[in-house]
Amino acid sequence: MITTSDIEACRRTTDAARRAGRTIGFVPTMGGLHAGHASLIERARTDGRFVVVSIFVNPTQFGPGEDLQSYPRTPEADAARAKASGADLLFTPDGDAMYGADAGTRVRPGRLAEALCGPFRPGHFEGVCTVVAKLFHIVRPDAAYFGQKDAQQVVIVRAMVRDLRMPIEIVTCPIVREPDGLAMSTRNAYLSADERRRATALYRALQTGAERIASGERRSGKVISAMRRVLDEASPCRIDYIAIVDPGTLEDRPELGAGPVMLALAVRIGSARLIDNQIVDVP
Ligand code: AMP
Repeated sequence: MITTSDIEACRRTTDAARRAGRTIGFVPTMGGLHAGHASLIERARTDGRFVVVSIFVNPTQFGPGEDLQSYPRTPEADAARAKASGADLLFTPDGDAMYGADAGTRVRPGRLAEALCGPFRPGHFEGVCTVVAKLFHIVRPDAAYFGQKDAQQVVIVRAMVRDLRMPIEIVTCPIVREPDGLAMSTRNAYLSADERRRATALYRALQTGAERIASGERRSGKVISAMRRVLDEASPCRIDYIAIVDPGTLEDRPELGAGPVMLALAVRIGSARLIDNQIVDVP
C-alpha cells in the first residue's frame, strides 16, 4: 500500500493505475477505521478495483460546538486496517491541501439536505458535498463506495454526482453491526460502558418498527410511537428524530403503501450523536 498526503502524488498514482488498465475504486473516510469501513474497502477490492482510501476529518461538515476537535484520530491503526482490507493507496491530505486559506467555494446540495439530519446539522451536507466533490476531482474514481449507515449522505452524494454530471458509479454497502446490533461508528468510542449498553436501543427500535409493519400496521405514526417507546429505554437520551421516509426522496411517508420505506433515527446518548436506519419492504 502506498501512502501519501500529497495531492499531486495521489493523482500520479491513480493515473499510473489507470494507464495499467485498472479501474479506480474510492472509499472516502474520516478515519477511526472499523469493520464498517473495512467492508467498503473489501467490496471495492472484490470488484477488482485499484482501491484508494482517503482519511480526512473534514472541518466544513462540522457545525459550531460539534466534535471536530475531539473526533478520534488513529492514523497508525487506520493505515494497518486499510492495508489489511486491501487498499492500494491511502490518501491522507491535511486541511491546507484540501482547502487552503481562501477556499470559499462550496457545493450546495438541494432539498434532500433539508430532510432527516438537515435541520439538526445546518451546513453539514454542504460540507460533505464540498469535500466529496474535491476528493472526486483529485482521485477521479470510476466507482465510489459509501455505507448505508449514513443513508442520507449516500442519497445526497448520488444526487450530486447526477446533477454535476460526474461519471462516477456510487455503490452503497450494507450497514455493519456489532453482535448486539449497534451500528459500527467511529463515534461509538465516545460511549461509556453504561451508554454503550443503552445504545442498543437504536437497533431494537428499528426492529420493533419493522415488526409492527410486518404485522400489518400501515400508520407511520403508530409505528413511530412504538419505536419511541423502545428508545425511551435508553434514557437519559435525546431523540433528534424518528422518521419513516421514502428511501429515494427522503420524504415522509405518513401512510405505508406497498414498496420500500426507510425507518431512520438520530439519538444523542451522552456526548455521542448516533444515527441508524433500516429499509423495510412493505408487502
Ligand atoms: P466516516 O469515516 O464515518 O465518514 O465513514 C466513511 C464511510 O464509511 C461512509 O461511507 C460511511 O457510511 C461508511 N460507514 C461508517 N460506518 C459504517 C457501518 N457501520 N457499516 C457500513 N458502512 C459504514
